[in-house]
Amino acid sequence: LLYCPYCMKNYPERELRWRCECGGYLIYKPDRIGFPDEGELVYRQPDIWRYREALPIDEGSVPVSMGEGMTALVPVPWDGRKVFFKLDYLCPTGSYKDRGISYLVSKLKELGVGSLIEDSSGNAGAAMAAYCARASIDCEIFVPSYTSGGKCVQIEMYGAKLRKIPGTREDTTRAAELASEKTYYASHNWSPYFVHGIKTLAFEIWEQLGGKAPDNIILPLGQGSLIMGAKLGFQELLDAGKIECLPRIYAVQSANCDPLAKAFKRKSDQPVRITKKETIAEGISSSEPVKGDMVLSDVRNSDGYILEVGEESIWSSFIKMCSLGFYVEPTSAVVGPALDELFDNGSISEGETTVALLTGSGLKATDKILHYKEAFASS
Ligand SMILES: [Zn+2]
Repeated sequence: LLYCPYCMKNYPERELRWRCECGGYLIYKPDRIGFPDEGELVYRQPDIWRYREALPIDEGSVPVSMGEGMTALVPVPWDGRKVFFKLDYLCPTGSYKDRGISYLVSKLKELGVGSLIEDSSGNAGAAMAAYCARASIDCEIFVPSYTSGGKCVQIEMYGAKLRKIPGTREDTTRAAELASEKTYYASHNWSPYFVHGIKTLAFEIWEQLGGKAPDNIILPLGQGSLIMGAKLGFQELLDAGKIECLPRIYAVQSANCDPLAKAFKRKSDQPVRITKKETIAEGISSSEPVKGDMVLSDVRNSDGYILEVGEESIWSSFIKMCSLGFYVEPTSAVVGPALDELFDNGSISEGETTVALLTGSGLKATDKILHYKEAFASS
């Protein structure tokens, strides 16, 4: 079923809606959920649908999939300390969003959706455009006009209609919500399904670490889908008796857009209202996270915390990642200064297993990377 955590209203599992009548977001609790046996997993394809028991779709329906997931988990020396990078920028459209969108579009196809709109800072829009192309669903994507050219071209080449909206990321959302009166609003940030695709990253890390959860996981934080996905995935592993405890979740915001880092510090259970500034980390520049209350409680319950990192440290981390051979989009580089802080203040120690997620490919952000390269060279 679908339920609203604010007014507690329930909706049937097959009802097509993107939010509650009261305006709250909806949570999807599948009627049945399971986890495959380890013996069975060995024989399955290396993509998110190897965990199909945990990704409920109608029996006999074919998932909309392009082999997303089962991305490499690579041990990396970070200032001589061993950490693992999970290379989610290697998903088919170049970002981790493919996990969530593969499941979301599979569900929408099943529910008979023939056309939809989505708004995005770029990566989710590209993923939505690609998976809609595969599913023959008409798709219109709203992006802020400042979005990297690489992402815009990608969205259009998949055949989606692209709408560039002047102003902030939030102005883009409002434009899409307005337009959604005519067609289905498939917003990944509002969707109750998206997070179930994202949770597969926890399953993979567990498999890749030989059937163990890491001690710590470091994730970039904008709307918080990675945090909610990791929490849900590790919780399902715990419920299935596959792990003994949940990892600590450390979430990272840009100091120029930090409504959740501020809320965490002030012990608030709702995002703080902020005036955001431009940031290199455009992928996490969300000042009004839809499910901010859930993200805050997920991080708190994990015993982790929310960090904020400055522009110069994000750029140096980006350069350092390039020097290690990882060409990511600058947003992904926020995990670098977070690792430094967490090791330095003793929150994580060297004997522990620590995984940081690299979310998007640098190949999509060429224009932005060139711009910042010149800006930092001259400053
Ligand atoms: Zn409600």
